[in-house]
Amino acid sequence: MTALSQDLRVSLIPVLQDNYVFVIERGEQAAVVDPAVADPVIRELERRGLELVAILHTHHHSDHIGGTPGLLQRWPKARVIASAADRSRIPLQTEGVRGGDQINLLGQNVQVLEVPGHTRCHLAYVLGESGHLFCGDTLFAGGCGRLFEGSAEQMHQSLKTLAALPGHTQIWCAHEYTESNLRWAAAQQPDNTAIRERLEAVRQRRSRGEATIPSTIELEKATNLFVRAGSAEELALLRQSKDQWQ
Ligand SMILES: [Zn+2]
Repeated sequence: MTALSQDLRVSLIPVLQDNYVFVIERGEQAAVVDPAVADPVIRELERRGLELVAILHTHHHSDHIGGTPGLLQRWPKARVIASAADRSRIPLQTEGVRGGDQINLLGQNVQVLEVPGHTRCHLAYVLGESGHLFCGDTLFAGGCGRLFEGSAEQMHQSLKTLAALPGHTQIWCAHEYTESNLRWAAAQQPDNTAIRERLEAVRQRRSRGEATIPSTIELEKATNLFVRAGSAEELALLRQSKDQWQ
């Protein structure tokens, strides 16, 4: 768990095979980001005595929105914040937002960024002054999302947008793919010491069953080949290579 300000905290709940649901809590209220499923989230919030007041979605894939109906049954008044442009695919949204919007969440300002590439309407959220980024399946620790609906140009631009955030910004990405991403990266650049050292640290954490999230912008700029790609063409080749890698 990471302290934001006096009483605001961010934590994660591992669900399904490798998804994370993020919990932002302040006092007795909470918001969640990308709830893949409802039951483990309800159990955890109830265990901590939290009332759910908002659900944020980065994109429409079922492992990011699947828990929303169940959460709304338990907490019917919760706001549901998602891409206004993707209303047909995220139908339960109560507040449609776009890149450049600012919203208030638990007394904090949240900045909405448009980061297409993985899907055409993918959003990311930056929480408050504290610098916590929720970026769904756009930027991963050591990797990036697959290009399901967007182009390499869009993903390149989206990663540049995220890389421009302050270096200490904590990255809460929605899957535990870090070890696989770094094994691939180390195979691409066997002489890259920074990648090798990060891979070793990540292996140790995973062998203890620990999450490798959050990462930081600074760490991704040093070791993430997709973030470091100098052009959309280079990113496209890296993406192809990773897609074909076991
Ligand atoms: Zn996705």
